[in-house]
Amino acid sequence: MDAAVKAPEGLRYPHDTPPAAGSEAIEVAPGVHWLRFSLPMKLDHVNVYALDEGDHWTIIDTGFASKKAKALWQDAMAGPLGGKPVRRVVVTHHHPDHIGLAGWFQTEMGAELVTTRTSWLTARMLTLDTQEVAAAESLSFYRKSGMGDALLEKCRAERPFNFADVVAPLPLGYTRIQQGDTIRMGGRDWDVHIGNGHAPEHATFWSRDDNLVIAGDQILPSISPNVGVYATEPMADPIGEWLEACERLAPLARPEHLVLGGHKLPFTGLPKRMEQLIENHHSALRRLLAYIETPKSASECFPTLFKRSIGEAEYGLALVESVAHLSHLYQTGLATRQLREDGAWVYQRKD
Ligand SMILES: [Zn+2]
Repeated sequence: MDAAVKAPEGLRYPHDTPPAAGSEAIEVAPGVHWLRFSLPMKLDHVNVYALDEGDHWTIIDTGFASKKAKALWQDAMAGPLGGKPVRRVVVTHHHPDHIGLAGWFQTEMGAELVTTRTSWLTARMLTLDTQEVAAAESLSFYRKSGMGDALLEKCRAERPFNFADVVAPLPLGYTRIQQGDTIRMGGRDWDVHIGNGHAPEHATFWSRDDNLVIAGDQILPSISPNVGVYATEPMADPIGEWLEACERLAPLARPEHLVLGGHKLPFTGLPKRMEQLIENHHSALRRLLAYIETPKSASECFPTLFKRSIGEAEYGLALVESVAHLSHLYQTGLATRQLREDGAWVYQRKD
């Protein structure tokens, strides 16, 4: 359960206690059930929604793939989901905590997978791309980000995180959704609006018939969704994409919207939250700009960016987020960068 259920300023949580993982469902609107699955990481849960289609369910996202998660899903289908099958899996974005079991539902239950093209292509590519040792490009990217020698050695020696370890194989075939589509789910028509920044081509769903928004990780209440740059695309500008997406989605937001996100608690107060999600990054960029009066690497910017100490469990996410912010300043012409003797890019404010 969340340690703190106090909502951020301007937000309200209609339900302050989440459902128990796998064994409970909370009906947050007629025919819309909220379930939770555990994650073995610092962010220890993911939200999943089941939409009633009469004789079957459409589910939004799935959690990681594991033996235990499959057993929990079997319990959920037999228990709170009343024995009806899952016939359609709608996935908001390609991250493993969301798409993890989609392939399993397709293969084992004949379910249809609905998602964006980028989500499907990225997830399928990553499930097929098993690495026993860290790729040279990843190690080079870490060094350029300012990772210290000890951690770099550890990354070199250990088997890296593999997407396929926590995502079930994805069979061929899915149904594409894109910006401007309307999809019928749970007795409602939903407009599809595409987010970006946290994950490329991230789907969100806005009900035309009531006040529901299914937001995945594009919009979360009490944590700022991670926005990171990775070795796969070192010159990506996800901060720019994040700001563009949030500014495009913000005018759709109404105070009475009940937002069903991928983590934490469903909430109301969306217009305020959109402002915060945008301003969080602007204020981070302002702090960084002040901090890089003298040249700094991404790892040296943790104290000003996060305003707390970063443990080893968070280091990877912190690093990609710090690179994203610095690279945004560089790519928008507010900072310069050069390779320091130790192999790290150091960024400095332009005057
Ligand atoms: Zn997530």
